Amino acid sequence: MAPRRLVIAGATALTMCGPAAVIPDSEIVVEGGYIASVGPRSRRAGAWGGEAEVIDATGKVLIPGLVNAHVHAAMTLLRGYAEDLPLQEWLREKVWPAESRLTPEDVYWGTLLGIAEMIFSGTTSFADMYFHMDEVAEAVSQTGVRAALAPGLVPGPDSGEALLEAARAFAVRWHGAAEGRISVMLGPHAPYTCPPDFLARVARLSRELGVGVHIHLAETQEEIGECLARYGRRPVQTLREAGLLEGLLLAAHCVHLEQDEIRALRSLRGACVLCPVSNLKLGAGVAPLLEMLDAGVPLALGTDGAASAGALDMFRAMRLAALLPRGVSRDPTRPPAYRVLEMATAGGARALGQERILGRLEPGMKADLVVLDLRLPGTWPVHDIYAGIVYSAGPGNVETVIVDGRPVLLERRLLTIDLPRVMAECDERARRLAAAVG
Ligand SMILES: [Zn+2]
Repeated sequence: MAPRRLVIAGATALTMCGPAAVIPDSEIVVEGGYIASVGPRSRRAGAWGGEAEVIDATGKVLIPGLVNAHVHAAMTLLRGYAEDLPLQEWLREKVWPAESRLTPEDVYWGTLLGIAEMIFSGTTSFADMYFHMDEVAEAVSQTGVRAALAPGLVPGPDSGEALLEAARAFAVRWHGAAEGRISVMLGPHAPYTCPPDFLARVARLSRELGVGVHIHLAETQEEIGECLARYGRRPVQTLREAGLLEGLLLAAHCVHLEQDEIRALRSLRGACVLCPVSNLKLGAGVAPLLEMLDAGVPLALGTDGAASAGALDMFRAMRLAALLPRGVSRDPTRPPAYRVLEMATAGGARALGQERILGRLEPGMKADLVVLDLRLPGTWPVHDIYAGIVYSAGPGNVETVIVDGRPVLLERRLLTIDLPRVMAECDERARRLAAAVG
């Protein structure tokens, strides 16, 4: 395919190369899916003639695409389905029985709905762990977004080997597919549901395949108790002994950590992905964000699935990541809004092992871009642009979304998804699931 040239002109560009690296009235030239140049505007929109397709973003704000670094997109089908229950009851009596009835087609349609919601809220990449992942990959491929897809692995007494072989086959089919927009990770569910020897095999397979690992880590206090009771060690120690801390690791939640565990996660080649909305809704607790930040732990943000978060909206995740530490520490100075937006962009890119090509606006990076319009009552006027995004903005400010140099949302028109069809399919499938489980 011939490389197309696309120019986004006139926006205030937040390059995420430092809080002061802001370019007013910018010009971003995109060629063949990559950012070719970033700088001040060199000519008027009309002056490009036939040389480029031009998006006039005068007066708007341009940021790197948001990265939702922990989600189960197909769980949109379970949005609002089981509310106000204790966590174990929620899981064992509602969510797991419903999930056991999900067909591959359910996962396909639920994922399409999740992708539509993520595009509308400025997310260009997401890290998903679920089952029926071929259908998730199809949905990603068709809709033009970017994703790191991890087949969820929960081994039974004799199923470990078969699960790993299926994951290997999935990686062979999809790693680097969809013009490089899909990458594969391995998804052992958590240290309390996967025995240590299985985790060690996952670590070996990830090294052999050259892919990362996506796992839930220290989400609840109960889980740490279970891990101790079953295997005699805490979750982080389990991961260390399995060899998982040495490779690319995306560790979701990280709510209950001790000081030495925070230190152990400092040199992670991926990131700890905090999911504050889900942690609050499920009563899991509050992650020690400031302590992790001070220790230099690489941090990213995720929403988790719609059943535990209500929405796949990274603006909510950013807002809570900024607000919760202030409430806990009673210190209104930290974390700075810039640092929170960085977690949702460059930090997410690192969680996916793609910090060299995603998360900042620089020549040579992939052109995953979001145009925000902050000239609306809830976000106007703008004194501090980072605070405006983190504290005031939401999906309603997202105007145009570009992935790999191609618009998937243009002036709030969704270009790659038949939304009425997806919503009708999901409604029918969600009702059937709810009726079957009760
Ligand atoms: Zn999760």
